[in-house]
Amino acid sequence: QAKQEGRNTYRLFRAEMHQQDADRLRLETALRDTAETGEGLEVHFQPLIHRDSGAVHGAEALLRWHHPSLGPVSPGEFIPLAERSGLILPLGERLLHLVAGQLRRWLGQGLAPPRIAVNLSAREFWQADLVNRVRRLYREYDLPAGQIGFELTESVLLDKQQKAVAILEGLRELGCRLAIDDFGTGYSSLSYLQELPVTTIKIDRSFIQGLAESRGSAAIVAGVTGMAKELGLRVVAEGVETQEQLDALSRYHVNLIQGFFTGRPVPAEQFAQRYLTRCAWA
Ligand code: C2E
Ligand code: MG
Ligand code: MG
Ligand code: MG
Repeated sequence: QAKQEGRNTYRLFRAEMHQQDADRLRLETALRDTAETGEGLEVHFQPLIHRDSGAVHGAEALLRWHHPSLGPVSPGEFIPLAERSGLILPLGERLLHLVAGQLRRWLGQGLAPPRIAVNLSAREFWQADLVNRVRRLYREYDLPAGQIGFELTESVLLDKQQKAVAILEGLRELGCRLAIDDFGTGYSSLSYLQELPVTTIKIDRSFIQGLAESRGSAAIVAGVTGMAKELGLRVVAEGVETQEQLDALSRYHVNLIQGFFTGRPVPAEQFAQRYLTRCAWA
């Protein structure tokens, strides 16, 4: 009896496994098509707001994927798949062109877009010739120095630190702002921060949301912001959703707020309507 039950459970388990594998394969095949054609890819922009003045400091570009038959797929689902399969390289390349093209159009319309930050995963950061690719992108779209910057996670930067520094320095020479994303969730050795030519630290959402309840989160926010101040780095609080969270941040050295409370990620057109002003000289 028990044996029979065990066997049935096992069969059910196998069937579920097959279903999962099949789903994953279907998603990967669809993503491969999308990487080839670019159809269904869009970029949304989320503002980074100066805490003290409320002015727009920049925005983060976030990839959105709407498949004709699968519907919208969240980045939490397709980005890890893209990273595992290597499709992140063609997808990331498409995103960069979407962002650069949008910036060029805004500039051509006499608008003054803020600097836009693009996420780079490990494979993208370590691809051959990143700095030259970015330099060519700036040239192709005739963008002002520093108009596009990058966000990287700690784990990308930790291994091969000397090589990472060289790449980061190359990007800094193009005027790019460079942020460490999701700070506090990786293997943060705080001391390695001073070795890296980055401009910004983004404190992960989990600490912002824990700030009110947990003394652990408060200790980490206090430590990170204190150190960032000493090192002359900008600090972004990610994932601020409420007035309470914003208030709780007031006692720390935090320059910038990014979260649903100050503005959700929105398509380019809405972003322009809400946040862009005309160039003073246009
Ligand atoms: P991330 O770089 O940390 O981006 C911030 C994420 O937090 C975004 O999720 C954003 O929509 C979400 N967020 C912003 N404010 C709030 C808030 O107040 N509350 C909550 N709950 N969430 C908030 P999204 O767009 O789903 O992206 C998830 C992750 O996927 C990103 O995390 C990034 O690691 C990755 N990703 C997105 N676009 C790209 C891309 O173009 N290239 C690469 N390599 N990765 C990307
Ligand atoms: Mg990011
Ligand atoms: Mg982040
Ligand atoms: Mg994140």
